[in-house]
Amino acid sequence: MSTPLETLQRVFGYEAFRGEQQAIIDTLLAGGDALVLMPTGGGKSLCYQIPALLRRGTGIVVSPLIALMQDQVDALRELGVRAAYLNSSQDWREAREVERQMLDGELDLLYVAPERLLTDRCMDLLSRSRIALFAIDEAHCVSQWGHDFRPEYLGLSVLHEHWPDVPRIALTATATGTTREEIARRLALENAAHFVSSFDRPNILYRIVEKNEVKRQLLAFIREEHMGDSGIVYCLSRSRVEDIAAFLSQNGIPALPYHAGMDAARRAEHQARFLREEGLVMTATIAFGMGVNKPDVRFVAHVDLPKSVEGYYQETGRAGRDGEPATAWMAYGLQDVVQQRRMIDESNGDEQFKRRSGRQLDAMLGLCETVDCRRQQLLAYFGQNIQPCGNCDTCLEPPESWDGTVAAQKLLSAIFRLWRERGQRYGAGHIIDILRGKLTPRVREQGHDTLSVFGVGADLSDQAWRGVLRQLLAKGLVAVDFEGHGTLMLTDDSRSVLKGETVLMLRREVARATTKASTRRQAAADTALEPDELERFEALRAWRASVAREHGVPAYVIFHDATLREVARRNPQTLGELAHVHGVGVRKLEAYGEALLGCVAEV
Ligand code: ADP
Ligand code: ZN
Repeated sequence: MSTPLETLQRVFGYEAFRGEQQAIIDTLLAGGDALVLMPTGGGKSLCYQIPALLRRGTGIVVSPLIALMQDQVDALRELGVRAAYLNSSQDWREAREVERQMLDGELDLLYVAPERLLTDRCMDLLSRSRIALFAIDEAHCVSQWGHDFRPEYLGLSVLHEHWPDVPRIALTATATGTTREEIARRLALENAAHFVSSFDRPNILYRIVEKNEVKRQLLAFIREEHMGDSGIVYCLSRSRVEDIAAFLSQNGIPALPYHAGMDAARRAEHQARFLREEGLVMTATIAFGMGVNKPDVRFVAHVDLPKSVEGYYQETGRAGRDGEPATAWMAYGLQDVVQQRRMIDESNGDEQFKRRSGRQLDAMLGLCETVDCRRQQLLAYFGQNIQPCGNCDTCLEPPESWDGTVAAQKLLSAIFRLWRERGQRYGAGHIIDILRGKLTPRVREQGHDTLSVFGVGADLSDQAWRGVLRQLLAKGLVAVDFEGHGTLMLTDDSRSVLKGETVLMLRREVARATTKASTRRQAAADTALEPDELERFEALRAWRASVAREHGVPAYVIFHDATLREVARRNPQTLGELAHVHGVGVRKLEAYGEALLGCVAEV
């Protein structure tokens, strides 16, 4: 019998296991159950695919995402693995054929949607077949409190009752301890071995910029750093999704919208195009994403502030699953803080819900305003400690902090005086005009130029004042009165600042037209190719595109970029040399080896 490592190298063309893959595989091979928490892109699929190949019988994979089953099965078949799926997208003839293969022991892996699995017909099929293992993907769908709850997942505990001796593995990228406990409980996996990986995604560069004209900023970011790349732009609202997709398209960046308000057919079409075409940008609400397996998404951009660190981490995690450099970029400003606080305030939830949402928002704001390493802060949220990473904006270009105590006092006292002396409340713009001593029509009309705070803040720019205010809002030192049309008011904590009892260190806003080269993809140098290598790489990509079209599969199913890049660099002359390239297993060598060699020889 082959070993797991030998299978990894022969079938998948990879040199070595990552992280805990080996230990997880050994657990299943020994007949044990496993609960696996691994970040997106960590390599979860191999953890059940290899044991399914090595154990007798078929590995049953429960996956909620019908749209993705086909791609997964295509990718496995390209590797020479006997894989199939059963779901509602098939006609009965196809489904019959899969059932026959299953009964005749001709399948290594069978992907099934949960609602299908629980039908009598499918349960009957399984009981007449030999089963190697059950893999429950996206296991957090069993959590009733999560975003992705699927009632059918609750029924999956029957697997254990019917097949107590078949090993089970549940997998998720959702990080928190409470979700893990809930999964273990609901899927009867209390006795399973738990594998919790580091949630770090070192190839993702995190960057959070101050928002001013977000569309222009987004366009500059894509043009300067990710022209021609696939990416996802997350927006809060449907109208924003449509607007940004149109804006990008008009400016030469092919983009498609995706949100829950679109009809299902158009949504499915956009998703399929995103998976299959290269260099397409998806602008989407959070409805888009779970299980987007596309490995070569090079950037995830947020043009609105996400509601929680957990959501942000899941969304950004969709970048760079192939391990190649990728960017998580976000623009964030004063208006985001106001809008999020308003949404919580006006939500229908009870007090407990509002408190929880408020805490989640505070953690997110803390990440935005930090002067320390972003990654350190992110991972700390998931209970993991690391050293400063060297691959985030604050590490690469440390922001300055400054003593903003006096500025904060000026701002707070302007709010305070207007309220105490005039019984008036105003929004950000007018308060800043007063501080800067601007004689606007409104200032004149209201006689606010006679206030003692008029003009006391002329030393700071408009933008700098917005930065101060945003940070005060983020820290809860100013509040927004939503019943009063978003006017500003003091909080209980404002007092200690006004009295000078607290020293307030603030992040300095640097006005910058574009990002400094140093802050761009740090690892880009590693992937840069010499001119002749680049020429080979482009030829290989063109070849791959035509093969992918012919087979009707996404390009990455044929070969990943990383593999093509390595071929371009090594310029192999023989099949033997080609076999050493990362991502070239026996089956692909056999199927495409000659064509690849021909392709590089021609350049
Ligand atoms: P997940 O499901 O955890 O998001 P995948 O299983 O899709 O991640 O794996 C992410 C990528 O990493 C895939 O392209 C996969 O082929 C690759 N990969 C997984 N394990 C290894 C390994 N040991 N060596 C090299 N590449 C790997
Ligand atoms: Zn860092």
